[in-house]
Amino acid sequence: MENKPIQLVYSKKYTTLTRNELIQAVKSQMSLKRFQHVLGVEQSAIQLAEKYNVSIEAVSIAALTHDYAKERSDKEMQDLIYREQFDLELLDYGSNIWHGLLGAFLVKQELGIADLDILNAIKHHTIGAEKMSLLEQVIYVADYIEPGRVFPGVEYARKLAAEDLQAAVQYETKQTLQHLIENNRKIYPKTIATYNKWVANP
Ligand code: GDP
Ligand code: FE
Ligand code: FE
Repeated sequence: MENKPIQLVYSKKYTTLTRNELIQAVKSQMSLKRFQHVLGVEQSAIQLAEKYNVSIEAVSIAALTHDYAKERSDKEMQDLIYREQFDLELLDYGSNIWHGLLGAFLVKQELGIADLDILNAIKHHTIGAEKMSLLEQVIYVADYIEPGRVFPGVEYARKLAAEDLQAAVQYETKQTLQHLIENNRKIYPKTIATYNKWVANP
């Protein structure tokens, strides 16, 4: 896929920030490496949005903010789980599971982004969900296939994504669960629910 500079003027429908201001806000939250990943996700997400008729602006905002909370301290995240009465089961997991769910909360609170579809895309980008809008699917898949990702199967995932978004969601969901099991990682129940809904045959 070609790599063209992104020239996007936001309409103010989703955020009062310009794209450049949003980029600066996101950049301040993370390492340069993660920031480059975020820009890669935006690029892939916009390509998918063009193909699958999703709002480019919404996709850009969701992509730029999807890992907003990934580098917050465990202590801050644990405090937030208690204070905002998130499911206490989350305490058995770590930043990998927290940053989407709590990230959506922090993006709303700190950046003022309130669009539910965008917030759900952030919330579900790691673990998926039984029902995902096209925007949620685009972010879920773009996070997996962005140009900086290098792992066995990523080329196949990119090929699927270019042809059939649902097939790409299914492939990613299955591969992620398989990878977690191979590495004896604890599976968050919603990850299994996503697998059951998207991959398992009834
Ligand atoms: P990133 O934030 O761009 O690195 O990507 P993601 O947000 O998609 O995923 C973060 C990490 O969480 C990845 O290493 C996933 O494999 C991992 N992950 C996804 N689901 C689960 C789960 O159910 N349990 C655990 N322990 N890790 C998971
Ligand atoms: Fe993430
Ligand atoms: Fe990510």
